[in-house]
Amino acid sequence: MWSTAREIAAGDTVIIWLTRDVIQPLVVTPGKDFNSKFGNYRHSDFIGMPFGSKVGSRSGKGFIHILRPTPELWTMALPHRTQILYIADISFITSYLDIRRGSRVIEAGTGSGSFSHSIARSIGPSGHLWSYEFHEVRAQKAREEFAQHGMSDIVTLAHQNVCKDGFNLTDAADSVFLDLPAPWDAVEHAKQALRKDRTTRICCFSPCMEQVLRTVSALNEAGFSDITMYETLVRSHDVAQVPVLQSVSEIGDKLKKAEEIREIKRLRQIAAGQRSRENPHGEKRKRDDAMEVEVLPTVTEAEDSGSGKRLKTDDEMTDATLSRITHDGDVSRSLDGATRTPHTGPNHSGLPAKISVSKAAAEVRGHTSYLTFATLLPPIPTAPLEDAPTEGRPSS
Ligand code: SAM
Repeated sequence: MWSTAREIAAGDTVIIWLTRDVIQPLVVTPGKDFNSKFGNYRHSDFIGMPFGSKVGSRSGKGFIHILRPTPELWTMALPHRTQILYIADISFITSYLDIRRGSRVIEAGTGSGSFSHSIARSIGPSGHLWSYEFHEVRAQKAREEFAQHGMSDIVTLAHQNVCKDGFNLTDAADSVFLDLPAPWDAVEHAKQALRKDRTTRICCFSPCMEQVLRTVSALNEAGFSDITMYETLVRSHDVAQVPVLQSVSEIGDKLKKAEEIREIKRLRQIAAGQRSRENPHGEKRKRDDAMEVEVLPTVTEAEDSGSGKRLKTDDEMTDATLSRITHDGDVSRSLDGATRTPHTGPNHSGLPAKISVSKAAAEVRGHTSYLTFATLLPPIPTAPLEDAPTEGRPSS
């Protein structure tokens, strides 16, 4: 796939990186110019430059980067003819379909070829991708791109309606990926195309729950098992750095104290239970409650002695203690749900001066489609029935 040479040559496909949001593919064609708001460039000037070069415009006022294409960059830059799969879904599907070097994979439809490029790289020249597209112009365009990107030996593209005509394959593929409006109509065809000598997998990509339910029914009816649906979503994390305030021994003391408080609380509860059983009348109980109020400050006073800090309840203290146990290099999860990792650079006591704290944002974005996976197990071999043993069988 694509050029592996160090330098750009005439006819190479390159990715022009203008800004983070403006990325476009270009076939280097001597005699042509590339014009953008970041300046004017001659294709012939790119020839002989190493991939990844930063190139200044002819007027000297702007610059661009010329990158070697990868499936990830192709997905970001490709000309959209349809909706496409992005890298979060592609990588999840690749992993859950167990697609690897040498895998034999079916996809339908081809669409803009975003998924196809990633799969072609994953399976390599020892694998094969059969891709199906029933829209003639899209099929032709994808075929041209696959040829231009050196994928023709890895990908076979058929202009075909898979729901009506199937895949024209029997017991051939390790996995099937369906990105179609009606995947349920292709499930039986997919079953026929999948290998029967090993466990194989299917994934159907559908944007709404009604489609998922129909697909699940079709998968069940066709004898697929382990049917599971996933959704890949983007969850951002806020990261901040906070100072580490306490030493190991301080934290140990606090934990011990928290444990003592818990124990006293437990004993008080037991004592209160006994009292109410022994003396059910309200008057004496009132006096005991007054005594209890005296017990708790005595314990927390010890925690407070010398520091002059506000007294903490035992629950507050436990929270504060747990949320700071990060000095030992482990990532720990505090009671507020934040994940903490230690920051390099010790302070005067040999502890990290700061730790990085990350907290997941409540908002989750990025719904594309639901991914329904299922497994097809090889059929159980039907051995001829052996004669059942007659020994010990009661005679009729
Ligand atoms: N996965 C592709 C990608 O990442 O670029 C995008 C696929 S696009 C959403 C769906 C494609 O399936 C369309 O191009 C459509 O023409 C094609 N399609 C729909 N029904 C089909 C069928 N029954 N047989 C073959 N292709 C079909």
